[in-house]
Amino acid sequence: MNSQLNRRDFLKLAGLLPLSLSAPRLLRTLDASQQIQGKQKNVVVIIFDAFSAYDISLYGFPRETTPNINRLAKRAVVYHNHFAGGNFTTPGAGSLLTGVLPWTHRAFNHNQRVVDPFVKNNVFSAFKDYYRISYTHNGFANTLLKQFHEHIDEPIAREAFFLESLDTFISTLFKNDDDIASISWLRSMRVQENGGYAYSLFLSHLYESIQEKRIEDLKQIFPRGIPTTGADYGYLLETAIDAVATRLSEIPQPFFGYFHFMPPHHPYRTPLEFFNAFKDDGFKDVEKPVDALVRQVVRNLPMKRTEYDEFILYCDREFGRFYDELESSGLLENTWLVLTSDHSEMFERGFAGHGSKLLYQPVVRIPLLIFEPGQETGIDIHEYTSAVDVLPTLSHVTGHSVPDWGEGAVLPPYATTPPDSDRNIYVVQAIDNLPNAPLTEASITLTKERYKLHYYFGYPEAQNGELAKLFDIQSDPDELVDLYSSKRGIALELLDELKRKLKEVNEPYL
Ligand SMILES: [Zn+2]
Repeated sequence: MNSQLNRRDFLKLAGLLPLSLSAPRLLRTLDASQQIQGKQKNVVVIIFDAFSAYDISLYGFPRETTPNINRLAKRAVVYHNHFAGGNFTTPGAGSLLTGVLPWTHRAFNHNQRVVDPFVKNNVFSAFKDYYRISYTHNGFANTLLKQFHEHIDEPIAREAFFLESLDTFISTLFKNDDDIASISWLRSMRVQENGGYAYSLFLSHLYESIQEKRIEDLKQIFPRGIPTTGADYGYLLETAIDAVATRLSEIPQPFFGYFHFMPPHHPYRTPLEFFNAFKDDGFKDVEKPVDALVRQVVRNLPMKRTEYDEFILYCDREFGRFYDELESSGLLENTWLVLTSDHSEMFERGFAGHGSKLLYQPVVRIPLLIFEPGQETGIDIHEYTSAVDVLPTLSHVTGHSVPDWGEGAVLPPYATTPPDSDRNIYVVQAIDNLPNAPLTEASITLTKERYKLHYYFGYPEAQNGELAKLFDIQSDPDELVDLYSSKRGIALELLDELKRKLKEVNEPYL
């Protein structure tokens, strides 16, 4: 009978995983007094990795990439000028999760961790009276989440929703004894052995053959290849979406969930349904000159961007299913739903992707949508906002005190005071700096009112060790006209402000 398993059964099977993972933690469950059903609202934060606001139709992109996210936008607060903390996963997700910029949390390079104070002070500790659950496909985000495990009741193991995960996962279990998620999985497997459910199916040869057959089938469904996290695992976004939606209907409330999914991160492998959806559609990118800080010029940028946009359709479809599931289960009536990203993606000036020295708008401007339970109309916010604002905002709207360690502000329209029009929004890329030393080589932008100052220093390509540019991002959103010389007064004023800030953040490390 098992050889007859279809896609639905397969996904259901995969969906069983989080239940078994979390079983031991549920056994030592929250006090009854902590289960304040209905009083405090749940919070769900959804991250699509490397999701650029520039490629989202609701932010004005001419391609219809987000029909389902648009449905949420009609009932949510939509932030139109929202900035990531950095330009790749570690600094970007670090800022979202800790509420401070990279020069404070110090996770500068791939797979680095945040410094000590933030192991205690993070979005999960801010929700300590909630049942906290997390998942990510992304290994770098997982490194950060592992740091916060003490504050997460149910950290779903990263490997839980990968296609090839079973063998690898079981074998790594015994090597990673410090991995709490793996330990809870192991315990739950023991529970099953003592007369539980039919989880032995996972360990059977039969399952392996089903899986192999499935991967052959999947190759037909994904013409550009099965989505992977890069070097390691293949995954289906559907598996994680289904499992998370199911799990949320089972866990104690109020809950705080952080779910960080890989797409539309490279490689851009959309399913057949969206394959070639934007091919030859007449869309033309604005031509931009190759930047002096780009070492190796990438060709075929329009083609790469088209594949990225087609991959966004996959995120959007799956987000739509998740949203509908929350609505039909009734959870949406009691749940704040947040959609955002850790950083975005650029296809211009000779560069494709993220994590370079460049901080142009397409790689730092991310989506942010916040849905409040019961909200029926959309609200547009055009003020400049930052990833570090999400933590204080979610604290505030759920009746928690706003943590005093954060660098952000409670966002409009939830703040009780009007937004500070004089506010400085920084983005920090300092990949080659040591966490415990002052910044000596970095890219930083300061955005204020209509101007955005780019400041690059310590790079061999920069003349005299530094390079600055100024753009009026209101009249020139494509950042094509450098005003550094013609608006010298403003440029120097902003540069002075930025350098003073840099001095301040370097102070503890001198
Ligand atoms: Zn990322």
